[in-house]
Amino acid sequence: MTLKPQFLYADLHIHTVYSADAIIQPKTLVDLLVAHSYIKVVAVTDHNSIRGCRATVELARTYPDILIIPGTEITTDNGDMLVMGTYELPPKPWTPESVTDYTRSIDGISIVAHPFRTYGMGEYARNVKADAIEVLNGGTDKEGNNQAKAFAKELGLPGTGGSDAHQVSELFNICTQIEASLNVDSILAAIKKGQISAQSARSAKPL
Ligand SMILES: [Zn+2]
Repeated sequence: MTLKPQFLYADLHIHTVYSADAIIQPKTLVDLLVAHSYIKVVAVTDHNSIRGCRATVELARTYPDILIIPGTEITTDNGDMLVMGTYELPPKPWTPESVTDYTRSIDGISIVAHPFRTYGMGEYARNVKADAIEVLNGGTDKEGNNQAKAFAKELGLPGTGGSDAHQVSELFNICTQIEASLNVDSILAAIKKGQISAQSARSAKPL
């Protein structure tokens, strides 16, 4: 495995069966990631649960060319937030502020998920010290994604992309190009620095 920075392609928002509303099995996700021609990184972000990422990380352990970023999607009182770099849930009560405080304390990152969609934070995200905004979300219409993109630009925050897949057919529709090495710390640092580009997977080019 090379530690040299390279362009990685990651789906940064995926739900497994450990989300009550999703049906993707961790084993299926790992198998599809191994087989994919260029997307080799995913963030498993189940709703208010870390069980899915733990299970997927365990299954992926034997494959050196894929990487699972541990995470969760927290239902805060002001909209959904993605947390990456954690195997634990933030302490309750879940507010955007408590989630960002927790995330900073563990050197993880927090991302405002689909701000201009149902369960999104909308303009409230201006008050939140998140590390990035999800600007391309597979479950959001074009207008909502365009609004998120302009919003991230205005706030000067990096923009991530993820499929928000709840079933297999939705996986990898969206990906984020990341200039980083194939390890979690390098990827999280690159997201924070904005060395990323969210794109539709169809337009992404392999190395
Ligand atoms: Zn989601």
